[in-house]
Amino acid sequence: MNSKADSERMEKIVSLCKRRGFIFQSSEIYGGLNGAWDYGPLGVELKRNLKDYWWRAMVHERDDVVGMDGAILTHPEVLRASGHVEGFSDPMIDCRSCKAHLRFDQLIEKKGVKQCPNCGGKDLTEARQFNLMFETHVGAAADESSIAYLRPETAQSIFVQFKNILEVSRKKLPFGIAQIGKAFRNEINPRNFTFRSREFEQMELEYFCRPERGMELLEYWKEERLKFYENIGISRSKLHVLTVPDEERAFYSKGTYDIEYEFPFGRQELEGVAYRTDYDLSQHQKASGKSLEYFDEETKQKFIPHVVEPSAGVDRTVLALICEAYAEDEAPDEKGKMETRIVLRFHPRIAPIKCAVFPLLKNKEPLVAKAKEIVDLLSTHMYVFYDESGAIGRRYRRQDEIGTPFGVTVDFETLGEKDPALRDTVTLRDRDSMKQERVAIRDLPAILRERLG
Ligand code: ATP
Repeated sequence: MNSKADSERMEKIVSLCKRRGFIFQSSEIYGGLNGAWDYGPLGVELKRNLKDYWWRAMVHERDDVVGMDGAILTHPEVLRASGHVEGFSDPMIDCRSCKAHLRFDQLIEKKGVKQCPNCGGKDLTEARQFNLMFETHVGAAADESSIAYLRPETAQSIFVQFKNILEVSRKKLPFGIAQIGKAFRNEINPRNFTFRSREFEQMELEYFCRPERGMELLEYWKEERLKFYENIGISRSKLHVLTVPDEERAFYSKGTYDIEYEFPFGRQELEGVAYRTDYDLSQHQKASGKSLEYFDEETKQKFIPHVVEPSAGVDRTVLALICEAYAEDEAPDEKGKMETRIVLRFHPRIAPIKCAVFPLLKNKEPLVAKAKEIVDLLSTHMYVFYDESGAIGRRYRRQDEIGTPFGVTVDFETLGEKDPALRDTVTLRDRDSMKQERVAIRDLPAILRERLG
């Protein structure tokens, strides 16, 4: 954690996530399963909006990328060839005093002596390698021959399907294959809410190219990915690019950037952008005995393409979006007295609910009927929420707290009772400025669609 204010902010965020149905501890009524999280009604919308926007930006709006959706259960040979069976491990240490299981890099050092970060104990076991992959058995026999793994990253199924996809998509280099899906790592210490989980989702692109373009495309994808985060409302000033030093990079990578975000618990990785050379395809070609080469029709050359990989975490990005959006400001209550307002300032593009619709009073049938008509009008375009209970100020506040960017209120003017010129108009309230404007109901879909981006 950074300062006390940062840790308080994080506590407020975690509690809001539970209170309003973004994120719950998995298996909570049984005491919780460490490292696993369930997304509630609002969390699932936020997550879906993020994934849909990633897919739109990375696949649909480009003509050089196609998608795939691979299996989670993975053949052991795939992960042997990729190096995961041998090498996908963290050095692990136990503290004999408090029995904590620790990652070697979490130990603290005082006067050159390693100590347990929990109890300060110095009685530590030797480091041993702990493989992070979840192993399971396929079929009835639970022996060596039936071992399969839950994939630790989505990338390997892309490499293994490279040839099939190349043939069916008829793409020429450079081109990419994108995938969004679950990955599993038996992390030694899941922590910082959803930041480090044992089950999480990744959004990965493998962008294949000729070897001489690798370094240039690494730069290109780093910039593209920074733009992406800005387009979903993460300010550039909170993003940092770390050039991973030679000694920390995977041995096959010629360059890796980590895109980091300033979480309340510190600056941490959101995404890795790595130039992985031809390592993965070469390994799979060697191990499977099947050619994974590309034939360049112009130069008549045959070679294994190189690859640049932007690999982002869905859960980490969702957490960054919530941390970035969380704000407290002041707003008047029903009696005009200023009170603290909690507001999630999500970019409208990723906000779980886009627009809330309120009849001013719930016991006035014509107001309720009109509000429901508006819900029908808007709900084919976006996710809307109808709320008739409580004072209107309270209803606004409830929506502010979950980040709904727009609120539409049906009042007596909508019914044309005071001024016929205002018939079929409503107030449209903006979450951030709290300003209201009067707009015609028929214009609402176009106005909102434009502002949602
Ligand atoms: P870290 O160093 O934080 O363990 P990593 O460098 O091992 O991450 P990669 O293998 O590069 O991560 O995975 C790509 C992305 O997948 C990460 O940038 C992150 O967003 C996400 N990710 C990886 N491990 C986890 C995890 N345990 N929980 C949530 N997201 C994860």
